[in-house]
Amino acid sequence: MHLNATTIPAFQKELLAWYQKNKRDLPFRQTKDPYQIWLSEIMLQQTTMSTALPYFSNFMKKFPTLKSVAMASEQDLLCAWQGLGYYSRVRNFHKACQQVLKNFKSQIPKKFAELKTLKGVGDYTAAAISSICFGEKQAVVDGNVKRVLARLFTYTQEQDSIPAKTFFSETAKKLLHPKRPGDHNQALMEIGALICRPKKPTCLICPVQKYCLASRENPEKYPIKKKQVFKRVDYHSLLIQNGEKLLFKSPHPQNLIANMWELPSHYDGKTLPQQTWKKIFKKIPPIKKLGAVRHSIMNQKIITHVYTVQTKIKAPKDFRFLSKQQLENVPWNTLSKKILKKFVKNPF
Ligand code: SF4
Repeated sequence: MHLNATTIPAFQKELLAWYQKNKRDLPFRQTKDPYQIWLSEIMLQQTTMSTALPYFSNFMKKFPTLKSVAMASEQDLLCAWQGLGYYSRVRNFHKACQQVLKNFKSQIPKKFAELKTLKGVGDYTAAAISSICFGEKQAVVDGNVKRVLARLFTYTQEQDSIPAKTFFSETAKKLLHPKRPGDHNQALMEIGALICRPKKPTCLICPVQKYCLASRENPEKYPIKKKQVFKRVDYHSLLIQNGEKLLFKSPHPQNLIANMWELPSHYDGKTLPQQTWKKIFKKIPPIKKLGAVRHSIMNQKIITHVYTVQTKIKAPKDFRFLSKQQLENVPWNTLSKKILKKFVKNPF
Protein backbone atom coordinates (compact mmCIF):
# COMPACT_ATOMS: atom_id res chain seq x y z
CA MET A 1 0.00 0.00 0.00
CA HIS A 2 1.44 3.40 -0.99
CA LEU A 3 1.29 6.55 1.03
CA ASN A 4 -0.91 8.99 -0.87
CA ALA A 5 -3.74 11.42 -0.24
CA THR A 6 -6.17 8.51 0.30
CA THR A 7 -4.02 6.48 2.69
CA ILE A 8 -2.46 9.33 4.71
CA PRO A 9 -5.36 9.66 7.23
CA ALA A 10 -5.12 5.94 8.11
CA PHE A 11 -1.30 6.26 8.40
CA GLN A 12 -1.70 9.19 10.81
CA LYS A 13 -4.24 7.31 12.91
CA GLU A 14 -2.10 4.18 13.19
CA LEU A 15 1.03 6.19 13.94
CA LEU A 16 -0.67 8.09 16.78
CA ALA A 17 -2.27 4.96 18.23
CA TRP A 18 1.15 3.28 18.35
CA TYR A 19 2.72 6.37 19.96
CA GLN A 20 0.03 6.59 22.61
CA LYS A 21 0.74 2.99 23.64
CA ASN A 22 4.51 2.82 23.20
CA LYS A 23 6.03 6.23 23.87
CA ARG A 24 8.84 6.33 26.39
CA ASP A 25 8.12 7.94 29.72
CA LEU A 26 10.52 10.89 29.55
CA PRO A 27 10.62 13.85 31.96
CA PHE A 28 9.90 16.40 29.23
CA ARG A 29 6.93 14.39 27.94
CA GLN A 30 4.99 15.13 31.10
CA THR A 31 4.83 18.83 30.37
CA LYS A 32 4.05 21.37 27.68
CA ASP A 33 6.31 23.92 29.33
CA PRO A 34 8.12 25.46 26.35
CA TYR A 35 11.30 26.08 28.39
CA GLN A 36 11.67 22.37 29.16
CA ILE A 37 10.73 21.28 25.63
CA TRP A 38 13.22 23.77 24.17
CA LEU A 39 16.01 22.62 26.48
CA SER A 40 15.32 18.94 25.75
CA GLU A 41 15.28 19.52 21.99
CA ILE A 42 18.64 21.28 21.92
CA MET A 43 20.19 18.73 24.27
CA LEU A 44 19.02 15.90 22.02
CA GLN A 45 20.53 17.37 18.87
CA GLN A 46 23.64 15.27 18.08
CA THR A 47 23.24 13.43 21.41
CA THR A 48 21.62 10.13 22.36
CA MET A 49 18.71 10.00 24.79
CA SER A 50 20.64 7.98 27.38
CA THR A 51 23.47 10.55 27.41
CA ALA A 52 21.16 13.57 27.42
CA LEU A 53 18.75 12.46 30.19
CA PRO A 54 21.05 12.91 33.24
CA TYR A 55 22.23 16.24 31.83
CA PHE A 56 18.62 17.34 31.44
CA SER A 57 17.78 16.56 35.08
CA ASN A 58 20.93 18.22 36.41
CA PHE A 59 20.48 21.27 34.24
CA MET A 60 16.85 21.64 35.37
CA LYS A 61 17.98 21.49 39.01
CA LYS A 62 20.57 24.20 38.50
CA PHE A 63 18.58 26.33 36.04
CA PRO A 64 14.87 25.65 36.61
CA THR A 65 13.62 28.65 34.63
CA LEU A 66 14.40 30.61 31.51
CA LYS A 67 15.24 33.60 33.70
CA SER A 68 17.83 31.57 35.64
CA VAL A 69 19.61 30.77 32.35
CA ALA A 70 19.41 34.35 31.11
CA MET A 71 20.96 35.65 34.36
CA ALA A 72 23.64 32.92 34.67
CA SER A 73 27.29 33.35 33.71
CA GLU A 74 28.57 31.57 30.61
CA GLN A 75 31.07 29.70 32.80
CA ASP A 76 28.29 28.26 34.99
CA LEU A 77 26.31 27.18 31.93
CA LEU A 78 29.37 25.58 30.29
CA CYS A 79 30.05 23.78 33.56
CA ALA A 80 26.56 22.23 33.51
CA TRP A 81 26.96 21.32 29.83
CA GLN A 82 30.52 19.95 29.95
CA GLY A 83 30.84 16.51 28.41
CA LEU A 84 27.78 16.93 26.17
CA GLY A 85 29.79 18.56 23.36
CA TYR A 86 28.63 21.00 20.69
CA TYR A 87 28.97 23.88 23.15
CA SER A 88 27.58 26.47 20.75
CA ARG A 89 24.18 24.98 21.68
CA VAL A 90 24.37 26.23 25.27
CA ARG A 91 26.00 29.54 24.30
CA ASN A 92 23.18 30.21 21.86
CA PHE A 93 20.58 29.08 24.40
CA HIS A 94 22.03 31.58 26.88
CA LYS A 95 21.75 34.44 24.37
CA ALA A 96 18.28 33.33 23.23
CA CYS A 97 16.97 33.27 26.83
CA GLN A 98 18.28 36.82 27.24
CA GLN A 99 16.47 37.78 24.01
CA VAL A 100 13.21 36.34 25.39
CA LEU A 101 13.61 38.41 28.55
CA LYS A 102 14.34 41.57 26.62
CA ASN A 103 12.16 41.30 23.53
CA PHE A 104 9.25 39.03 24.53
CA LYS A 105 8.48 40.15 28.12
CA SER A 106 9.98 36.88 29.46
CA GLN A 107 7.41 34.75 27.56
CA ILE A 108 8.77 32.23 25.06
CA PRO A 109 7.09 33.13 21.76
CA LYS A 110 4.44 30.72 20.50
CA LYS A 111 4.78 31.18 16.77
CA PHE A 112 7.27 29.33 14.57
CA ALA A 113 8.31 32.59 12.84
CA GLU A 114 8.96 34.41 16.14
CA LEU A 115 10.84 31.46 17.61
CA LYS A 116 13.17 31.55 14.63
CA THR A 117 14.29 35.07 15.56
CA LEU A 118 15.98 33.62 18.67
CA LYS A 119 19.71 32.86 18.58
CA GLY A 120 20.41 29.27 17.57
CA VAL A 121 16.76 28.39 16.93
CA GLY A 122 16.41 26.92 13.45
CA ASP A 123 13.56 25.21 11.62
CA TYR A 124 13.84 22.01 13.67
CA THR A 125 13.71 23.58 17.15
CA ALA A 126 11.07 26.17 16.17
CA ALA A 127 8.86 23.43 14.67
CA ALA A 128 9.27 21.23 17.76
CA ILE A 129 8.39 23.99 20.27
CA SER A 130 5.54 25.51 18.25
CA SER A 131 3.91 22.14 17.47
CA ILE A 132 4.42 20.34 20.80
CA CYS A 133 3.68 23.25 23.14
CA PHE A 134 1.27 25.37 21.11
CA GLY A 135 -0.27 23.03 18.51
CA GLU A 136 1.00 24.96 15.46
CA LYS A 137 0.98 22.91 12.27
CA GLN A 138 4.75 22.66 11.75
CA ALA A 139 6.52 19.47 10.72
CA VAL A 140 9.74 18.50 12.47
CA VAL A 141 12.56 17.08 10.37
CA ASP A 142 15.49 15.63 12.30
CA GLY A 143 17.81 12.69 11.60
CA ASN A 144 15.25 10.14 12.82
CA VAL A 145 12.45 11.61 10.71
CA LYS A 146 14.69 11.74 7.62
CA ARG A 147 15.53 8.06 8.02
CA VAL A 148 11.88 7.02 8.39
CA LEU A 149 10.78 9.12 5.39
CA ALA A 150 13.66 7.97 3.20
CA ARG A 151 12.65 4.37 3.92
CA LEU A 152 8.89 4.85 3.58
CA PHE A 153 9.46 6.27 0.08
CA THR A 154 12.81 4.58 -0.85
CA TYR A 155 14.21 8.04 -1.51
CA THR A 156 17.46 7.77 -3.46
CA GLN A 157 19.05 11.25 -3.34
CA GLU A 158 21.86 11.98 -0.90
CA GLN A 159 20.17 13.02 2.37
CA ASP A 160 21.88 16.41 2.78
CA SER A 161 21.50 17.50 -0.85
CA ILE A 162 19.25 20.46 -1.68
CA PRO A 163 16.59 18.32 -3.42
CA ALA A 164 16.57 15.97 -0.41
CA LYS A 165 15.99 18.86 2.00
CA THR A 166 12.98 19.95 -0.05
CA PHE A 167 11.73 16.36 -0.26
CA PHE A 168 11.96 15.78 3.51
CA SER A 169 10.35 19.05 4.48
CA GLU A 170 7.50 18.79 1.94
CA THR A 171 6.83 15.13 2.67
CA ALA A 172 6.84 15.69 6.43
CA LYS A 173 4.33 18.52 5.92
CA LYS A 174 2.07 16.36 3.75
CA LEU A 175 2.01 13.56 6.32
CA LEU A 176 1.48 15.83 9.35
CA HIS A 177 -1.70 15.26 11.36
CA PRO A 178 -3.66 18.54 11.10
CA LYS A 179 -5.07 18.44 14.63
CA ARG A 180 -2.28 16.79 16.62
CA PRO A 181 0.96 18.03 15.02
CA GLY A 182 2.94 17.84 18.28
CA ASP A 183 2.09 14.18 18.96
CA HIS A 184 2.53 13.31 15.29
CA ASN A 185 6.04 14.83 15.20
CA GLN A 186 7.04 13.05 18.39
CA ALA A 187 5.58 9.76 17.11
CA LEU A 188 7.64 9.88 13.92
CA MET A 189 10.81 10.71 15.88
CA GLU A 190 10.01 7.91 18.33
CA ILE A 191 9.63 5.34 15.53
CA GLY A 192 13.02 6.45 14.22
CA ALA A 193 14.59 6.10 17.67
CA LEU A 194 13.00 2.80 18.72
CA ILE A 195 12.04 0.82 15.61
CA CYS A 196 13.39 2.28 12.40
CA ARG A 197 16.95 2.37 13.75
CA PRO A 198 19.92 2.94 11.43
CA LYS A 199 20.97 -0.72 11.71
CA LYS A 200 18.60 -3.67 11.92
CA PRO A 201 15.25 -1.84 11.90
CA THR A 202 12.52 -4.04 13.40
CA CYS A 203 10.11 -3.83 10.46
CA LEU A 204 8.04 -6.76 11.72
CA ILE A 205 6.73 -4.73 14.66
CA CYS A 206 6.65 -1.38 12.85
CA PRO A 207 3.20 0.23 12.94
CA VAL A 208 3.63 1.75 9.47
CA GLN A 209 5.17 -1.23 7.70
CA LYS A 210 2.31 -1.67 5.28
CA TYR A 211 3.06 1.78 3.82
CA CYS A 212 6.83 1.29 3.67
CA LEU A 213 8.56 0.60 0.37
CA ALA A 214 11.99 -0.09 1.89
CA SER A 215 10.66 -2.89 4.10
CA ARG A 216 10.18 -4.88 0.89
CA GLU A 217 13.87 -4.64 0.04
CA ASN A 218 16.84 -3.60 2.22
CA PRO A 219 15.89 -0.72 4.55
CA GLU A 220 19.49 -0.20 5.74
CA LYS A 221 20.31 1.17 2.29
CA TYR A 222 18.34 4.31 3.19
CA PRO A 223 18.86 7.18 3.70
CA ILE A 224 21.63 7.67 1.17
CA LYS A 225 24.56 9.32 2.95
CA LYS A 226 27.75 10.97 1.79
CA LYS A 227 30.79 9.04 2.91
CA GLN A 228 32.27 10.94 5.84
CA VAL A 229 35.88 11.92 5.34
CA PHE A 230 37.89 12.13 8.53
CA LYS A 231 40.92 14.36 8.77
CA ARG A 232 43.81 13.46 11.04
CA VAL A 233 45.26 16.31 13.10
CA ASP A 234 48.09 16.30 15.63
CA TYR A 235 47.95 18.29 18.84
CA HIS A 236 50.52 18.59 21.66
CA SER A 237 49.59 18.97 25.33
CA LEU A 238 51.56 19.44 28.52
CA LEU A 239 51.03 18.02 31.99
CA ILE A 240 52.70 20.23 34.57
CA GLN A 241 52.05 19.22 38.12
CA ASN A 242 52.78 21.31 41.18
CA GLY A 243 51.99 19.20 44.25
CA GLU A 244 48.28 18.41 44.05
CA LYS A 245 47.66 21.00 41.35
CA LEU A 246 47.91 21.01 37.55
CA LEU A 247 48.64 23.89 35.22
CA PHE A 248 45.64 24.93 33.11
CA LYS A 249 45.15 27.64 30.53
CA SER A 250 42.41 30.11 31.44
CA PRO A 251 39.21 30.32 29.36
CA HIS A 252 39.76 32.13 26.07
CA PRO A 253 37.74 32.37 22.84
CA GLN A 254 40.66 30.75 20.94
CA ASN A 255 40.87 27.68 23.20
CA LEU A 256 39.98 24.30 21.69
CA ILE A 257 36.50 24.71 23.19
CA ALA A 258 35.97 28.44 23.42
CA ASN A 259 35.93 29.83 26.96
CA MET A 260 36.67 26.54 28.70
CA TRP A 261 39.78 25.73 30.76
CA GLU A 262 42.29 23.37 29.15
CA LEU A 263 45.76 21.87 29.59
CA PRO A 264 48.51 23.98 27.97
CA SER A 265 48.24 22.87 24.34
CA HIS A 266 49.48 23.49 20.85
CA TYR A 267 46.91 22.88 18.11
CA ASP A 268 48.86 23.57 14.95
CA GLY A 269 49.74 20.07 13.81
CA LYS A 270 51.97 21.37 11.02
CA THR A 271 54.59 23.07 13.18
CA LEU A 272 56.40 21.84 16.24
CA PRO A 273 55.17 23.24 19.56
CA GLN A 274 58.47 24.85 20.68
CA GLN A 275 57.19 28.41 20.15
CA THR A 276 54.12 27.68 22.25
CA TRP A 277 56.17 26.20 25.07
CA LYS A 278 58.56 29.16 24.87
CA LYS A 279 55.65 31.54 25.43
CA ILE A 280 54.79 29.67 28.61
CA PHE A 281 58.28 29.08 30.01
CA LYS A 282 60.40 31.85 28.41
CA LYS A 283 63.09 29.22 27.73
CA ILE A 284 62.25 25.60 27.00
CA PRO A 285 62.82 23.24 29.94
CA PRO A 286 63.47 19.48 29.55
CA ILE A 287 60.33 17.92 28.15
CA LYS A 288 59.53 14.23 28.32
CA LYS A 289 56.98 12.54 26.07
CA LEU A 290 54.44 10.39 27.93
CA GLY A 291 52.46 9.00 25.01
CA ALA A 292 49.38 9.92 22.98
CA VAL A 293 45.62 10.17 23.35
CA ARG A 294 43.04 9.81 20.59
CA HIS A 295 40.01 12.05 20.42
CA SER A 296 37.39 12.99 17.81
CA ILE A 297 35.67 16.30 17.25
CA MET A 298 33.19 16.42 14.33
CA ASN A 299 35.15 15.05 11.33
CA GLN A 300 38.56 15.41 12.96
CA LYS A 301 40.49 12.43 14.28
CA ILE A 302 42.85 13.98 16.77
CA ILE A 303 46.07 12.46 18.03
CA THR A 304 47.30 14.42 21.02
CA HIS A 305 50.92 13.91 21.95
CA VAL A 306 51.28 14.35 25.69
CA TYR A 307 54.43 15.62 27.42
CA THR A 308 55.47 16.36 30.95
CA VAL A 309 57.92 18.98 32.08
CA GLN A 310 60.34 18.84 34.98
CA THR A 311 60.19 22.40 36.19
CA LYS A 312 59.05 24.52 39.06
CA ILE A 313 57.36 27.53 37.57
CA LYS A 314 54.92 30.11 38.76
CA ALA A 315 51.76 30.07 36.69
CA PRO A 316 52.43 32.43 33.76
CA LYS A 317 49.92 35.06 32.63
CA ASP A 318 46.67 33.43 31.37
CA PHE A 319 47.49 30.15 33.18
CA ARG A 320 46.65 28.86 36.67
CA PHE A 321 47.47 25.87 38.81
CA LEU A 322 44.13 24.24 39.69
CA SER A 323 43.33 21.67 42.35
CA LYS A 324 40.82 18.82 41.99
CA GLN A 325 38.29 20.80 43.98
CA GLN A 326 38.71 23.90 41.83
CA LEU A 327 38.29 21.83 38.67
CA GLU A 328 34.94 20.57 39.91
CA ASN A 329 33.57 24.08 39.69
CA VAL A 330 34.88 25.23 36.31
CA PRO A 331 34.25 23.98 32.77
CA TRP A 332 37.24 22.19 31.19
CA ASN A 333 37.37 20.23 27.99
CA THR A 334 36.92 16.49 27.47
CA LEU A 335 40.30 16.09 25.76
CA SER A 336 42.06 17.35 28.91
CA LYS A 337 39.96 14.89 30.95
CA LYS A 338 41.04 11.99 28.72
CA ILE A 339 44.70 13.01 29.09
CA LEU A 340 44.45 13.11 32.88
CA LYS A 341 42.69 9.76 32.95
CA LYS A 342 45.47 8.14 30.96
CA PHE A 343 48.55 9.76 32.46
CA VAL A 344 47.80 10.97 35.99
CA LYS A 345 47.89 8.34 38.74
CA ASN A 346 44.88 9.66 40.63
CA PRO A 347 43.03 11.51 37.91
CA PHE A 348 40.74 14.36 38.85
FE1 SF4 B 1 11.52 1.60 9.03
FE2 SF4 B 1 11.00 -0.95 8.63
FE3 SF4 B 1 9.11 0.69 9.60
FE4 SF4 B 1 9.91 0.88 7.11
S1 SF4 B 1 8.87 -0.82 8.03
S2 SF4 B 1 9.58 2.58 8.52
S3 SF4 B 1 12.07 0.42 7.26
S4 SF4 B 1 11.05 0.08 10.58
